[in-house]
Amino acid sequence: MVELARDFARTRLEPQAAEWDRTKHFPRDVIAELGKLGFLGMTVPEEWDSMGLDSVTYLMALEEIAAGDASVSVSMSIQNAIPATMLVRHGTPAQRERWLKPLARGETLVGFALSEPDSGSDPASMRAQAVRTDGGWVLNGLKAWATNGGTADLMMIMVRTDTPGDRRGPKGISTFIVPTDTAGYRAGKPEDKMGLRASNTATVALEELRLGPEQLLGDEGMGFVYAMEGLDAGRLGIAIQAVAIARRALELSLAYCAERRQFDRPLQDFQAVQFKLADMATRIEAARALAHLAATRKDRGEAASASASMAKLFAAETAMWVTTQAVQLFGGYGYMRDFPVEKLFRDAKVTEIYEGTSEVQRIVIARSLSGR
Ligand SMILES: Cc1cc2nc3c(=O)[nH]c(=O)nc-3n(C[C@H](O)[C@H](O)[C@H](O)COP(=O)(O)OP(=O)(O)OC[C@H]3O[C@@H](n4cnc5c(N)ncnc54)[C@H](O)[C@@H]3O)c2cc1C
Repeated sequence: MVELARDFARTRLEPQAAEWDRTKHFPRDVIAELGKLGFLGMTVPEEWDSMGLDSVTYLMALEEIAAGDASVSVSMSIQNAIPATMLVRHGTPAQRERWLKPLARGETLVGFALSEPDSGSDPASMRAQAVRTDGGWVLNGLKAWATNGGTADLMMIMVRTDTPGDRRGPKGISTFIVPTDTAGYRAGKPEDKMGLRASNTATVALEELRLGPEQLLGDEGMGFVYAMEGLDAGRLGIAIQAVAIARRALELSLAYCAERRQFDRPLQDFQAVQFKLADMATRIEAARALAHLAATRKDRGEAASASASMAKLFAAETAMWVTTQAVQLFGGYGYMRDFPVEKLFRDAKVTEIYEGTSEVQRIVIARSLSGR
């Protein structure tokens, strides 16, 4: 699977990534190909039409895809992590049959909507509301920055199910399974982003959106817990996405420093340049090792939440630092759109923001240290 991912990245992603970035093109057909090859539900157990692979194999494959194009990798990462984890752990047999199997076969593209315009780092303060009716639920509200909000077939959406007179904080939130062709689901126009420009990010309006009782996932009031479980898995994917962006920046820097000459010699002959490259390589290796360690802990069934946060925090800051060094090594050319490192620099930034900012990761890690 890792070799297949590497070939796919080199032939189907790398040659087109710059153009997709320039034109904000969402390559749906290419993502569908990834689905057919089995990359969109890799760790779902075999009984649900997947390969039931381990998390380290999944991360190794995702690293290759992300090295080809970070925008495409975010779809692969979300699909494999958050919705899949939620359905595997908390779906009823009927829900898994109906929604997990096509997800695992890569036939449906899936996203999740937790954030809102006024609640990002503090999602328990969300406002979107579901009200119980005779036939099920009616949802109203606004979700923000949903990856694939405008391109997914299915979204896992977190909304309040407590009442204005009885607010329960995180215990007042539930998760719903929402096909995006449901009346009342309306995605806004794709956001115009700094990086990951070929991925779809959109506001989603929920307008009198009616759902049946079978579309509530797991228990009412447990949606926040399910989202946090999903994010533990998701953060591993973002960690490895950051590793891949940094790795690509290093590969390009090595090639450039061998070729570019100043003062009558290639840049790679200067010790200051060699030290920079050595530090880049060391930090990337450490970030990858942290991500693989967290994935191993998760697969062993050990508590892996703080490990996942450490991996994401360290890898994201590594990606930002390494891509900054890469732009520096490319000099003036590094600042130009014609050279690939400026895209990597832009793509790296979001890894410090989404699925919990670096500050939020530090909060999670600090809490785990004090046993809270
Ligand atoms: C490209 C992209 C894709 C996304 N995809 C999704 C998606 O698919 N689904 C989804 O639900 N969301 C998604 N998001 C939203 C993302 O998860 C949020 O942007 C992120 O959690 C931060 O929330 P915020 O933007 O509201 O920032 P805020 O929470 O307003 O934070 C602003 C700043 O304050 C800091 N801060 C906040 N609280 C504290 C604190 N207690 N201590 C110290 N510092 C603090 C933050 O770290 C940050 O630096 C996406 C975002 C982007 C940019």
